[in-house]
Amino acid sequence: MHMKINLTRMTADAMQLTEEVTTRWTSRIAGSPACLACGDYLLDTFTRDYDGAEKQEFKVHPASFLGYMKICVVLYFIALIAFLFHQLLVAAVVSSIPIIITVTHFFYFKEVIDFLYPEKLGQNIMGTIEPSGEVKRQVIISGHHDSAHIFNFLENDPDSFGRKTQLSIGGIFGLAIATWLTWSLSLMGISILIPYYGFAAVFVFLSIYVYQLWHFHDEQGTPGAGDNMICTAIAMEVGKHFKSIKGDPSGLKHTRIIVTSWDAEEAGLRGARAYVKANKQELHDVKTYNFNLECMYDHAELGFLTSDLNSFVPMSSQMVDECVDVAASIGYSMKKNPFPLLAGGTDAAEFAKAGIEATTLAAMSWTERGEGIAYHTTSDTIDAVDPIAVSRSIETAIHYIRRKDEQITA
Ligand SMILES: [Zn+2]
Repeated sequence: MHMKINLTRMTADAMQLTEEVTTRWTSRIAGSPACLACGDYLLDTFTRDYDGAEKQEFKVHPASFLGYMKICVVLYFIALIAFLFHQLLVAAVVSSIPIIITVTHFFYFKEVIDFLYPEKLGQNIMGTIEPSGEVKRQVIISGHHDSAHIFNFLENDPDSFGRKTQLSIGGIFGLAIATWLTWSLSLMGISILIPYYGFAAVFVFLSIYVYQLWHFHDEQGTPGAGDNMICTAIAMEVGKHFKSIKGDPSGLKHTRIIVTSWDAEEAGLRGARAYVKANKQELHDVKTYNFNLECMYDHAELGFLTSDLNSFVPMSSQMVDECVDVAASIGYSMKKNPFPLLAGGTDAAEFAKAGIEATTLAAMSWTERGEGIAYHTTSDTIDAVDPIAVSRSIETAIHYIRRKDEQITA
């Protein structure tokens, strides 16, 4: 069926909204007045543009997400000093705590230390476009409007990011292994002289890197244009398109669209998590798909995530295959990307964990971080956003939603 899409105008509108929001609220850390004001602004826009709009509030402890690094630094130095004073068991026990925190809190995004940090208000914003007939499935198309803390390693010297993070995490994990090993050897009555002085030298050296984690991030947030205001704007354009053709022969018959802007993504996916928890029944009553968007920097990197959350959570391979197929049908070759360890996660993970089909479309290399990077730096302004990636994402999402509707209408 012929479908008129004015991609040039939609892309320009998405870019313009992103520029407006990211220059008005130049830092949008979850829980900050700027982030809340931005959410209210989006709610007004959604209310104007869609069939219905709402704000869902939740409690969040945003400072915990990166704050755990400082806990790890302190415990590392306590353990190292204990080790240097031959308190091997104390060193072993204390050095193990950062590993437990890092694995649960940062590898799996669990809320183990959140209670230590101040509670703030978060708000997810959503707008609904109802189909002309009975609702038989729904697509949640989503971005997030909160922005990340500036990552000082990326801001100041992006080439060193990999080395600094790997050596500091290596130091934290290595110290625990080394202290348990030395303690065990001493229990067995084996001479520990050589390993002891060897480990002492290595971990005193690595303490330089571990200490740098104290300054991993700045209190200030990034402008968050490419990550991720533009993605909320893309979702909004897709919603507006279907609203404008509602009731036409080319309009949606049985598919509801929920345009969503999550809050607190950069605080460990807490916004999407709160939504999934609060709406679990509805999400399973109607067959739901989450088409999530992230990081629109480079159209050559456009691809769908096959896994998420440091690669521990698989995405729906059926949905990824279908999305790649839809993109190919309109002439775009898009990749299927597994998520690398230590790269964090995206909001789609919260849906996948709840058994809802989900994937994230992103236009960024998840592993290469070179000079002039915009991701999590002050360079993340509208100039960093790739309009071709925006245009192709809008087009692909529209065709994907259309196909999902045709499948149940046919
Ligand atoms: Zn993001």
